[in-house]
Amino acid sequence: MKALTWQGKRDVAYGDVPDPIIQQPTDAIIKVTSTGICGSDLHLYEVMAPYLEEGDVLGHEPIGIVTEVGAEVTGLAPGDRVVVPFQIACGRCFMCDQGLQTQCETTQVRDQGMGAALFGYTKLYGQVPGAQAEYLRVPQAQYGPIKVPAGPPDDRFVYLSDVLPTAWQAVEYADVPPGGTVVVIGLGPIGDMAARIAMHRSCRVIGIDLVAERLERARRRGVETLEYGDDVAEVVRELTAGRGADAVIDAVGMEAHGSPVAKFGQQLAGLLPDKVQQRFMETAGVDRLAALYLAIDVVRRGGTISLVGVYGGMADPLPMLTIFDKQIQLRMGQANVRRWVDQILPLLGNDDPLGVDDFATHRLPLSDGPAAYEMFQKKQDGAVKILLAP
Ligand code: NAD
Ligand code: ZN
Ligand code: ZN
Repeated sequence: MKALTWQGKRDVAYGDVPDPIIQQPTDAIIKVTSTGICGSDLHLYEVMAPYLEEGDVLGHEPIGIVTEVGAEVTGLAPGDRVVVPFQIACGRCFMCDQGLQTQCETTQVRDQGMGAALFGYTKLYGQVPGAQAEYLRVPQAQYGPIKVPAGPPDDRFVYLSDVLPTAWQAVEYADVPPGGTVVVIGLGPIGDMAARIAMHRSCRVIGIDLVAERLERARRRGVETLEYGDDVAEVVRELTAGRGADAVIDAVGMEAHGSPVAKFGQQLAGLLPDKVQQRFMETAGVDRLAALYLAIDVVRRGGTISLVGVYGGMADPLPMLTIFDKQIQLRMGQANVRRWVDQILPLLGNDDPLGVDDFATHRLPLSDGPAAYEMFQKKQDGAVKILLAP
């Protein structure tokens, strides 16, 4: 079959890989009809290169049709239309019972010390071939796949694999009080959808990004938007009675642009030993924390930061004085997809309150995948969400 495979930094290829086959009685095979490219794929594209092996099949956002099921998969049959969550979970362990499917004890990648296995996400997450392919083997198919009705276009349901539950959990974790204000940092697919969900729940939403088209797209849906820059935190405070926002969603993660570290450096000047101060200002990883620093700056005292953007490896240094003194609540993690699906499904009707039908900016054949990755990474041609069709 055809699939997109990782070949090296910023090098994705469209080519032949072996067809997947049923390996366990709990497996199913689906024929993928649409499959997204995610901001998380961009980490693999470049930053996380050391974890990848040449030929790894990428992707984790598929919708498709079941073609085959293993003996223990009773709830699915060939011909069913399903969306597959990006994480693999069993649905019957202690963690799955808590709604923490990302920590599933059956699929935890123990040799790497990691949580539940993910599709298309390197040896760190179980080396499971991904979904930017014609066919996908789905482990734990007795639980994972979400059956959806035939009829509406793939766009209606495909985001149940990741974007919708991820944005939903981001808003849940942000814990915005009634009538409160949430700042969404980063207006890629995840931040954009989180802003839509927060607006749907009658929150006041302020969105921040550096890409003009993304700001404009959010503005069209009623989000107050600000361009990322030096004074952006000050502007947020002016908009929030001088206090800052009740909650902040960081939908950027470790590939942030910008470097607002200096502010905290000055705040801590004199408090820290010179050597630590110097390290604080110079640490190589600091720009990677630009969005998190902004979140710490714009959240009000006693407010909540919901980290949905992915942070990998070590992040250092953190302004712990400010985090502690402001009594900031930090909540984070990968989305527990199955936990939120029943709450989201009623919003996927014909009235389409979240605008999923027009959410994709590009629909391309899978064979255009290599160019699509480049376009999405460089934020060219207005690309926000790209769906590929095998
Ligand atoms: P994306 O890369 O398209 O979005 C990131 C956005 O942040 C871009 O629009 C970029 O311009 C903007 N940005 C960069 N630096 C900024 C700054 N300093 N201030 C404001 N905006 C800034 O990707 P996406 O698909 O929207 O994903 C966003 C993040 O969410 C990624 O880190 C991704 O890995 C993560 N994610 C997490 C989960 C989860 O389960 N927690 C699931 C999916 C994606
Ligand atoms: Zn994703
Ligand atoms: Zn489990």
